Amino acid sequence: MKSNQEVMVFAEQREGEINSISYELLGKGREMADRLGGDLSSLLIGHEMADTAMELIYHGADRVYLYDHAIFRDLDLLNYKHNVVKLVREVKPEILLLGATHWGRSLGARVATALGTGLTADCTGLEIDHSGNFTQIRPAFSGNVLAHIRTKTKPQMATVRYKVMKSLPRDTNRKGEIIRKNAEVVPSLLTIARKERLEEVNIADAEVIISGGAGLKKAEDFSLLADLAGLLGATVGSSRPPVDSSWIGKEHQVGFSGNTVKPKIYLACGISGSVQHLAGMRESDVIIAINTDPSAPIFKIADYGIVGDLYEVVPKLIEKIKRYRS
Ligand SMILES: Cc1cc2nc3c(=O)[nH]c(=O)nc-3n(C[C@H](O)[C@H](O)[C@H](O)COP(=O)(O)OP(=O)(O)OC[C@H]3O[C@@H](n4cnc5c(N)ncnc54)[C@H](O)[C@@H]3O)c2cc1C
Repeated sequence: MKSNQEVMVFAEQREGEINSISYELLGKGREMADRLGGDLSSLLIGHEMADTAMELIYHGADRVYLYDHAIFRDLDLLNYKHNVVKLVREVKPEILLLGATHWGRSLGARVATALGTGLTADCTGLEIDHSGNFTQIRPAFSGNVLAHIRTKTKPQMATVRYKVMKSLPRDTNRKGEIIRKNAEVVPSLLTIARKERLEEVNIADAEVIISGGAGLKKAEDFSLLADLAGLLGATVGSSRPPVDSSWIGKEHQVGFSGNTVKPKIYLACGISGSVQHLAGMRESDVIIAINTDPSAPIFKIADYGIVGDLYEVVPKLIEKIKRYRS
């Protein structure tokens, strides 16, 4: 596919609200488009979102392709894919970026397959060199090396992790155009889309995360962490072993092959602190660890450490918070 020098960002929205990852991608996309001497566009799919489309311009886009249709009130993966593919074939952007969210990963993979192009998943860095070559950077081999990847096919597609790119300050003086596109609706399995929606947990946006690891004895014990999370308005996270045991969904996994998070507070319960886990949470503002083993590596990066049994400490925390509140 021949392309112009346009950088396109897929703007992810949920119930009319733009996901912060899209603003982060626009910040980086602006820098990349300027280096390439091209435009930065954004693709917004939803229902009654004209005002929201302006937000994408205020955050750096030169133009927004807007698909407005009632069908997009639902996260209808097939219809999203169909319209993204159609637009990419028409506009031929050089680069297409999506957030490495649950939704972005599902959609990106389907779009790349339909277009017959490559997709670099979970990037932590994007670079354009002086010759205009686009390099996608992502951790490889358990995070021990940073792979620098170039894609020969067009558009060059990447999904990018949360909170590794900086969004631009909102500037209402910024000008741009909104191009309304006609949505093509194809028959789809909406039930699948609804199921994905129900299961979705946006852990990367959480301000407080209570995570459990292999120190938990059984799946049901996540309810203990959920009780504490409920009191604190927190989201439940997990290291990989409980996810591998199907005790909790993959969307809760923090770490190298899961989500990158940067909450204000990260409480690790029964998590040893492997490099792969730390890769996803070490940037948290305050890290608290509960672990029976005083030599567990998690204590090396924890701001506060409690050497103790999570089955004793967590109920005490719950009790104290309840007593304090009453
Ligand atoms: C390619 C690759 C990708 C990976 N990606 C990820 C990833 O994204 N995320 C991830 O987490 N891991 C990932 N891993 C796995 C990683 O290497 C570790 O195996 C994993 O992080 C260990 O999880 P854990 O700390 O919960 O378990 P463990 O290392 O087994 O630690 C359990 C801890 O619980 C403590 N404990 C036990 N009982 C209690 C109790 N009652 N109270 C308090 N503490 C207790 C123990 O002292 C121990 O420190 C990946 C591995 C590979 C090879």
